[in-house]
Amino acid sequence: MSINFKDYIASVDNFPEPGIVFRDISPLMADGQAYAAATDAIADFARERKVDMIAGPEARGFIVGCPVAYKLGVGFAAARKKGKLPRETVSASYQLEYDTATLYLHKDAIQPGQRVLVCDDLLATGGTIAATIDLVERLGGIVVGTAFIVELTDLHGRDKIKDYDLLALTQYE
Ligand code: IMP
Repeated sequence: MSINFKDYIASVDNFPEPGIVFRDISPLMADGQAYAAATDAIADFARERKVDMIAGPEARGFIVGCPVAYKLGVGFAAARKKGKLPRETVSASYQLEYDTATLYLHKDAIQPGQRVLVCDDLLATGGTIAATIDLVERLGGIVVGTAFIVELTDLHGRDKIKDYDLLALTQYE
């Protein structure tokens, strides 16, 4: 059965702020067939690139990446927000609209030379995924691609990560 992923993305006006349309993957997660189809599509993309690990940022990067890791029988590296990881970490900061944010990875989350697919639910300006890529690479990982359920094309996030293969299951302007 072929799935139109857009049928499973809710568009929420004025969230989290007036004027913003939030693209919500919850309906996709709530539908077993759609969630499995999204996982399978990303797993195929990852398998072609012979990945050893999946990595993703807190929190929806886990929802997208963990089932792919399970399906391929590889590990998952969780990039987390401040104060969550108990052991030695590397960190990367990135720009938000009015602020900066920082993501962390345990220093042993990736082994040098591992081939890594970096996943998140959505690509907007690309800051989050670029910081996650930076963390993986600083640990010696080889980023062989990035994958998203949704890409917001008008924000040109893909320009920030143009050196990497990119899979987006749906796009919105
Ligand atoms: P970026 O760093 O600007 O690319 O923003 C992407 C990050 O913000 C991802 O981790 C998303 O989960 C989150 N995000 C930004 N906009 C949306 C949205 O419309 N829906 C869901 N998540 C979003």
